[in-house]
Order: sequence, then C-alpha cells, then structure tokens
Amino acid sequence: MAEEKKCDILIVGGGPGGLCAGMYAARANRHAVCLEKYMPGGQIAITGDVEDYPGFESISGAELAMKFADHAKKFGLQIEMEEVIQIYCEGDDRLAKCASGVTYRGKALIFSTGGRPIYLQVPGEEKYSGKGVSYCAICDGAFFKEQVIAVVGGGDAAIEEAGFLTKFASKVYVIHRRDKLRAQKIIQQRAFNNPKIEFVWDSVVESINGDDTRVTNLSLANVKTEKKATLEVGAIFVYVGFRPNSDLIPDDVKLDESGYILTDFKMETSVPGIYACGDVRAQLVRQVTNAVGDGTTAAVASERRLEELEDKAT
Ligand code: NAP
Repeated sequence: MAEEKKCDILIVGGGPGGLCAGMYAARANRHAVCLEKYMPGGQIAITGDVEDYPGFESISGAELAMKFADHAKKFGLQIEMEEVIQIYCEGDDRLAKCASGVTYRGKALIFSTGGRPIYLQVPGEEKYSGKGVSYCAICDGAFFKEQVIAVVGGGDAAIEEAGFLTKFASKVYVIHRRDKLRAQKIIQQRAFNNPKIEFVWDSVVESINGDDTRVTNLSLANVKTEKKATLEVGAIFVYVGFRPNSDLIPDDVKLDESGYILTDFKMETSVPGIYACGDVRAQLVRQVTNAVGDGTTAAVASERRLEELEDKAT
C-alpha cells in the first residue's frame, strides 16, 4: 500500500559511506533515514580481515560494518531495510520510492550504493572467496607474502594491481584471455619490466581449486590450443571489471563513461540536493577510508542545504 514518510536527509545504501553520512547527519540533529536492501555494511561486511582502516590494526569486515552501524544508530540514524526502486525530485524535495510501497521524502538525498566486482563465475570462486579468492589487492595483498599468486584480467586494474602485488608475492602470474592487454601502454610497460610478473596469454580460468580451507591451484584452458593446465597458486585476484551501482540514479545526474557518478568537492551531483559518496562516485581509489570521508562531506553539505532552504522559507 502506498505510504509516505518524511525525514530531513535520506541516505540510499548502508555501506561505510552511507553509515558515516548518517552518523554525521544524526549528530547534526537531523532526522536521517538510511535505506538498505540487505544488512548494513555493504561490501565491507563480506570482506575477510581489514588491516587498513586507521585505528584498527586488524578487524573482520563484518565486525567493522557492525561497529559503523551501531555507532550511527547510537546518534539517532534510522536504518530501514528497504529496497529503493526509484529516486526523483519534487521541487526542493528528494524522494526514494521503495519496493514495499513506502516513499521516503527528504530535503537532501545521499546516494551511497557502492559497486560490485564482476565475478569470473567459475567453480570454486564463491567457495574460496576470502580464502584466497580476492577482488581487492590493497585489502588482501599482504596476506600472501612470499607466495605465488595469480591475477586475472588485462585491463588497467588487473595490470596495476599485479604490480602492486609483487611487493608481497614471490611471483605473480597474470592470466589474460587474449594475447594483448587492454591496459594503458604505460601500465603495460611497467608490468613487462617487472621480473616478478609472468603472463599466461590466451588463457581462461576454468576452476579455482583448494583443500577446502584455501586456494591451492587453478585449472586453466588455452582458448587457442584448448590445452589444459594446472597452475599452483596460493591466491587469485580477480580484476575483470567493476560495476558501480548507479542504475537507480535519475537520468539528469551526470555519470562518467564507466557509469560512476560525477560530483563536485561537496559530493553534490549535477542535480542539487542529490549527493554521492563511496564506490559509486568517480574517484581515484575505492577504499573504506575514502567512503567515510565522502560520507562526512556529503552529510555536512546536506546540512548546509537544509539550513539554506530553512533560511529561504523564513
Ligand atoms: P576493464 O578495463 O573493463 O578490463 C577488464 C579486463 O578483464 C579486460 O582485459 C577483459 O578482457 C577482462 N575480462 C572481462 N571479463 C572477463 C572474463 N569473464 N574472464 C576473463 N577476463 C575477462 O576493467 P578494469 O581494469 O577494472 O577498469 C575499469 C575502468 O576503470 C576502466 O575504464 C579503466 O581504465 C579504469 N581504471 C583506470 C585505472 C588507472 O587509470 N590507473 C586503474 C584502474 C581502473 P578483454 O581485454 O579481452 O576484454
């Protein structure tokens, strides 16, 4: 049944960016509502150990996510389990319509829906996720010191991260389905010059295998010769693309060519009163630390917008 609920600041997506924005908005004494489809935490909730969030030398992603949510709720953030199906504007109001039939109406909307890595979709990938299958070299590279590991993909992300991983690993195989890389030439050259990187061309991963507790090897197939091979590795980093969850954003919000939302320094999009933070926003790196910084800025900017609208109304 259609129902409308009012608040001051609406947050769509309950990852680190959204929860941090919610904490700041609630601390500013605003009625802030965070709409999250699943459980709060976003991608961090399904990350193994986090070792690069200041103040926590090592904490599980699930625990950190819970801490973010509890902290925000303590200051008054209302978290609702809702699936948003449409975002739109009515005058100065910003609205989020949910699958439940409820529409939330606020004066500012912070879009923090994150993104998702593209999966290989091969046997063993899900089973060994967090046990040697990773989508984040910065987060997990240090767990594989002096080990032989693999990276899949031939784009900028795969080739840059392969280079980064050589700081830890004794050897990094880059498995690519063609014999030419998609990555920018300068990134390619750096990788070709790196003695720890070896390319496995024209090859795809058919399955990720292990001993039930961790990855031990990969089954590969050469797409030209159809020859099969086994590659002994302790980990596989999958970089076959990343998709921002920007599908719901209204059409007049400007995106870059890869679908990431463009913002100004206030995290405001091309539509006033709609802000974006975290992985869904176009920026250099996609880390929890960035997301919470973005969330802080978006919340403070939203608060200023509310003050301006209140001043205008008096
Ligand atoms: P990407 O450019 O889309 O590259 C994905 C790579 O994965 C391609 O080499 C592709 O092979 C391969 N691939 C796709 N599906 C596959 C599958 N099922 N199995 C095996 N391989 C598969 O993605 P990205 O590297 O994540 O980059 C995304 C965007 O971010 C790009 O615009 C990129 O330029 C940008 N980015 C920039 C930087 C930088 O400037 N420093 C760093 C990271 C990312 P094919 O080549 O055969 O299609």
